[in-house]
Amino acid sequence: MKHIAKKKFGQNFLIDQSIIQSLINAIHPQAEDLMVEIGPGLGAMTQPLLKQLNHLHVVEIDRDIIQWMQGFYPAKKMTIHNSDVLKFDFGTLGERIRVVGNLPYNISSPILFKLLENTAQIIDMHFMLQKEVVERMVAAPSNAEYGRLSVMLQYRLQMEYLVTVPPEAFDPAPKVESAFVRCVPYASLPFPATDEALFAKVVTAAFGQRRKTLRNTLKGLLDDAGFSALNIDSQLRAENLSVAEFVAISNYLASQNQ
Ligand code: SAM
Repeated sequence: MKHIAKKKFGQNFLIDQSIIQSLINAIHPQAEDLMVEIGPGLGAMTQPLLKQLNHLHVVEIDRDIIQWMQGFYPAKKMTIHNSDVLKFDFGTLGERIRVVGNLPYNISSPILFKLLENTAQIIDMHFMLQKEVVERMVAAPSNAEYGRLSVMLQYRLQMEYLVTVPPEAFDPAPKVESAFVRCVPYASLPFPATDEALFAKVVTAAFGQRRKTLRNTLKGLLDDAGFSALNIDSQLRAENLSVAEFVAISNYLASQNQ
């Protein structure tokens, strides 16, 4: 179909067939999978996925694309959800879903945080994102890329940086490089927080001013006695702490509040 890419919807369509095939291979779809694609666009990934799946759910915001899809794809093969993915209720799809998508880069972090709330029903997720975002997702402590996104995602997900994708693989070409990432929710969390809201609060506070020491950023939350009890140096910065240490801080605070 003739379609002018809409910047407001982050539309950069994949056009490199060999890259598309390598992404599909990495996803490794099985006929019976309960899969949902976020932002199918003009079908670069949708069509090869449909060849291997009995059925596919897609969530797309652009009405022009929806109209075209309704005429193009056989209805029994695909359920089309005309929705903003940020408002979409993934709970309606079923118990064990797989999620894929070449995401709109302008809202990729909100999408990731939304899906974090649904990890109990997710088998795995494969996403194309801005390379810099994937680097932040998988970053280890004491790296410049390590931040709130890394800690909150690594708390729940095992992640694997799969491949870097150049701008020329898309039309229109984005200004940035992209990367494809696999995210698999832990069946049981390696470091469970007793109070997850408190854990999120500690992580947000610590990275709120990332150049400041923990003594400053966690003032009012954790005192000197707390730092000593946890054996954490209050002169460190948020970027130096592992996920396990953030959990230890929030579990300590939760136990003090009881
Ligand atoms: N999957 C296609 C491809 O690889 O060529 C298109 C990818 S394009 C980067 C992002 C897609 O997400 C577009 O189809 C866009 O219309 C859709 N999209 C943007 N914002 C959305 C939102 N809030 N909810 C659902 N879909 C959205």
